[in-house]
Amino acid sequence: MSFDSLGLHSSILRAVTAKGYTTPSPIQEQAIPIVLTGRDLVASAQTGTGKTAAFALPILNRLGPHKKPGPRVLILEPTRELAAQVDENFADFGKFTDLKRALLHGGVGYGKQRADLLAGADIVTATVGRLLDFLNERVLRLDHLQVLVLDEVDRMLDMGFIKDVKKIVSLCPKQRQTLFFSATIPPEIQEIARFALKDPAHVTIGRTRSVNESVTHAIYPVAHHLKFPLLLELLKKTDYKSVIVFSRTKHGADKIARKLKAEGHTVALLHGDRSQGQRKAALEGFKNGTLEVMVATDIAARGLDVAGVTHVINYDIPATPDDYVHRIGRTGRAAAEGDAFTLVTPDQTGELRAIEKFIKATIPQLTMEGFDYKAKAPVPAPGQGQGPRPPRQGGGRFDPRAQPRHHGHRPDGRPTSGQPQRADHRRGDDLSPRAPLPGTTGGKGSGGQQRDKDRAPNPFIQKGRPGAHWQRRDGRR
Ligand code: AMP
Repeated sequence: MSFDSLGLHSSILRAVTAKGYTTPSPIQEQAIPIVLTGRDLVASAQTGTGKTAAFALPILNRLGPHKKPGPRVLILEPTRELAAQVDENFADFGKFTDLKRALLHGGVGYGKQRADLLAGADIVTATVGRLLDFLNERVLRLDHLQVLVLDEVDRMLDMGFIKDVKKIVSLCPKQRQTLFFSATIPPEIQEIARFALKDPAHVTIGRTRSVNESVTHAIYPVAHHLKFPLLLELLKKTDYKSVIVFSRTKHGADKIARKLKAEGHTVALLHGDRSQGQRKAALEGFKNGTLEVMVATDIAARGLDVAGVTHVINYDIPATPDDYVHRIGRTGRAAAEGDAFTLVTPDQTGELRAIEKFIKATIPQLTMEGFDYKAKAPVPAPGQGQGPRPPRQGGGRFDPRAQPRHHGHRPDGRPTSGQPQRADHRRGDDLSPRAPLPGTTGGKGSGGQQRDKDRAPNPFIQKGRPGAHWQRRDGRR
């Protein structure tokens, strides 16, 4: 199927071509015709499936030329970064139209946002708090709204925004189209869908609990006091272009970033306590390649689309299995390939099992060759902390000091050790086969490459014609 056959206007098709898209992804194929009819839609789709275009293209098509008074479209997003990303997509896809946009989010001044609203924005992309500010100020009214998009609803639920979202929904005209996107749709979310939508069509892309097929993931068991040295070793031995390191806490992220900088890495730091200016600079530096490592909390785990993230390292195992899927969804986006490594300490086997149960797959365990797993923890100076966390007794299914289970070659025949390469930081020119996983020795016989049959098919690859229709960003097929 091509974009031409979806019934989109030529000005939008031109923008799609300019963006480099040739073939619609499955969610685009399914959702675009529904949205064009004006029907409500509940879509559950994994991140990275192309859902932004799935709603942006038909919405732009339905709007026609700019009209006052506005706005006619409102898109609600859980975070500032996501709102900015979606607004950017509307700018790209609407570049051959005269439609006006406003991007509303906190952390920056009100002036430009107010001016954009008063200039008659057709499309408003907003986070909840700032939108409510403008509604209270009466700079913004929703009386003329035709389309409401609730994006990443599960994330909004996690962040405690649902009451505000319901309030905003109740301020919208009853006659409207509502589009509802959520990676997972547990019962609490179904209840919100019932409240906000009328007779919706349903689209589900892939198994929402699955890990993106283009991501190879692995566990690195390690003692608590050796996590940072192992992170350094992973970075040293990984052929990455850009990597996101996830920390559970803001404080932890600060600490990792500081230590990485001290080791000579260029680091972008993204978490909720940073100012909007700092967040923007971090994201921009990371996107344009001047900062090679991004250290982030889960604020960056959902929906953010940074092209060319080759690796995700979970310095801390994620708090929930759902977060695991989202975090590692930052790499391997849109059919590009990526690796995701998780450092797991002996007291975290329960969390690891919960993740494996959730994704219905066993994550291969790897050991870094040449890494000193026997190194002692530094003895804290009197009054400085309590030293390393003692491992929980019994039940652990791995031993961080275990010797590698395989030597020399991975099950797929690729060498496991040799002289791993330092990262090649050139962007967009990686035409060589993928580098082996750093280190390493494969556990569980899969070496990290095994494709679990339970996993969702890669949304960008059609069965039977792998890669035939899909042009990767780097030109590879
Ligand atoms: P999204 O799920 O909307 O965040 O999209 C994930 C990534 O896929 C983004 O980088 C999009 O630009 C890209 N993408 C979406 N649809 C297509 C398509 N039909 N062809 C190529 N790339 C796409």
